[in-house]
Amino acid sequence: MDAAAKALSPGGVVTVIDAGGERLGVGTFNPHSLIGLRLLSRDAEIAIDQAFVTAQLTRALALRDLLYARPFYRLIHAEADGLPGLIVDRYGDVVALQVNTAGMEALLPLILDALEAVVAPAAILLKNDSPVRRLEGLDLYDRMAKGEIEGPVALEENGARFFADLAGGQKTGWFYDQRDNRAAVAAVAAGRSVIDFYSYAGGFAVQAALAGATRVVAVDRSEGALILASRSAEANGVAVEPVRAEAFAEMERLAATGQRFGVVVADPPAFVKSKKDLAAGAKGYRKMTRLAAGLVEPGGFLLVASCSHHISPDAFAEEVRHGLSTAGRGGRILRSAGAAADHPVHPFLPESAYLKAMLLQLD
Ligand code: SAH
Repeated sequence: MDAAAKALSPGGVVTVIDAGGERLGVGTFNPHSLIGLRLLSRDAEIAIDQAFVTAQLTRALALRDLLYARPFYRLIHAEADGLPGLIVDRYGDVVALQVNTAGMEALLPLILDALEAVVAPAAILLKNDSPVRRLEGLDLYDRMAKGEIEGPVALEENGARFFADLAGGQKTGWFYDQRDNRAAVAAVAAGRSVIDFYSYAGGFAVQAALAGATRVVAVDRSEGALILASRSAEANGVAVEPVRAEAFAEMERLAATGQRFGVVVADPPAFVKSKKDLAAGAKGYRKMTRLAAGLVEPGGFLLVASCSHHISPDAFAEEVRHGLSTAGRGGRILRSAGAAADHPVHPFLPESAYLKAMLLQLD
């Protein structure tokens, strides 16, 4: 990077010109970030103005309207929706944003105006507390850009009702990315007992209960998450037994007492938080699979997932295989999937496909 580039203001819009003078596109540039350039358009003449941002939002909304009957989804998934560094999750007339790059922080006034024009939400939360902001030289903050949020916010997913804590919960409050994987678990849950480790607000647990599971246990170390899961269960007229515990310890305790379940779900927080954690985190997925598989009754089902960007689908599948073989369990993979379609993947950025989920039947 030359001195002129280093002097550019973080997050400013730049025209990208190659060494031969060819104009390649426009993007935002941050001299302080490892990913200096984030491309916004391959049209080098396009103006990055209100019309541009509104057009990105309009296209993203049209896709979600096509995919989903109800207004509960990820509206903007960063690069693949043409706004690198921006996440917008929609909960009806409440939206929560994560602004993760200096480029998007600089465009925030245009983004808020575009949201107003396209969605007109009653409340807009800026959930800008992700440590990735530090890599961009941005400070961490949470604040309302519009309106107020009173208590947990209601949402719907696959016909089930939920409550999410947008301000106090994880990320923007709800993990819409698991929508299709939750439906896949629900599809095998009828007539079976289910245990959902790392249940958070009960996404897997409540949908399995609604699908006719005989008994559903939700395990999480967070009291607040379990309160939301119980409240969501009640709103759907089903029962979920909350267990506050550390997941591995609870898996070992249940195994020692000989308990088995028809369906075991383990969708933990990211075990691999950075490249240097890969070896340790990968071992975590192996151990998790081994312990979880041990709790599955013969003919039952296991869903294991990883939301770590830094472990590839192949490497994750390898850890799952190791875990199964150490547990002495065979079976068949029914589904190897990523996130739902409201989390699209940029075709040239395969690493933006962070979620891995495998559903297996075990013998
Ligand atoms: N499966 C959830 C998402 C999981 S988010 C869903 O479908 O929405 C991660 C959750 O794991 C959080 O609720 C967090 O409280 C919980 N957690 C993190 N570490 C844990 C541990 N060691 N034992 C139990 N729960 C843990």
